[in-house]
Amino acid sequence: MGFKSFVKKVGKAIGSGLDTIINTIGEIGGRLIGLPGFIFDLFVPWPRKKLRLRILILKDENGDPLSDTRDLVVESRAAYDLARTILRREANVKLISYGNLPRVEVLDVNPPTAALEPRCRGPFIDTWGAANWFYVQWKQYSVSILLLGNGAPISAFIVREIEEGKNVGCSPGAFADHLVVSLAGLSFESNDDVDVTRVTSTTLAHEIGHSCGLNYMGFQEHSDKKNNLMFATQKERGTNLNRLQIAGLRNSRFVTYL
Ligand SMILES: [Zn+2]
Repeated sequence: MGFKSFVKKVGKAIGSGLDTIINTIGEIGGRLIGLPGFIFDLFVPWPRKKLRLRILILKDENGDPLSDTRDLVVESRAAYDLARTILRREANVKLISYGNLPRVEVLDVNPPTAALEPRCRGPFIDTWGAANWFYVQWKQYSVSILLLGNGAPISAFIVREIEEGKNVGCSPGAFADHLVVSLAGLSFESNDDVDVTRVTSTTLAHEIGHSCGLNYMGFQEHSDKKNNLMFATQKERGTNLNRLQIAGLRNSRFVTYL
């Protein structure tokens, strides 16, 4: 390894490490400060709170669209709208974009394969990979970084494939302010129709749940109940959230009163 590439590697590691540290401290601090609100929300999820989200669709390594046949902007908007409906109905949380920026945007860069096909090995491990470095570079930044990420927008990257197709969405939980959804997690083909139609998936809403602390607040990654938004399998899961999940989500540092 030459000196220059060594310096570059160290720089990336410091950048990625700092991002994880800021997000982790912000998460712990935010949870402590939000404790009274959390207890209140267990009884009444009120008043309406806000959550900022931007979807950033990746192009492939050559700058070409990830799909020739599907309109990923239209599908992303549909996933966004579905997540907005679920969060508003279940948790009294309004999903909005950040500033005047569009809620869905195609990222005009040529990403590395690592970012297009992330491995999703868990927070603190994925921190050090090339995929995370790409997300840290291209995610939506805001002044909330001064508040250790309290009120930060979540950046949802649409990628080609996750864990070689074994997964359709992945969030490092609240230890980052980005998540990924694969093409297979944006929509899926319905089987019960004569004509094959694509159904908008709840995966985006589910991953937002992970980023907002679900279900680790309940000490398990996924819900056992099929009607729950935090059930693991996208085609079988419902959209319900229970009291603890609602309070946990509303107490996330990404969810704010203003
Ligand atoms: Zn999950």
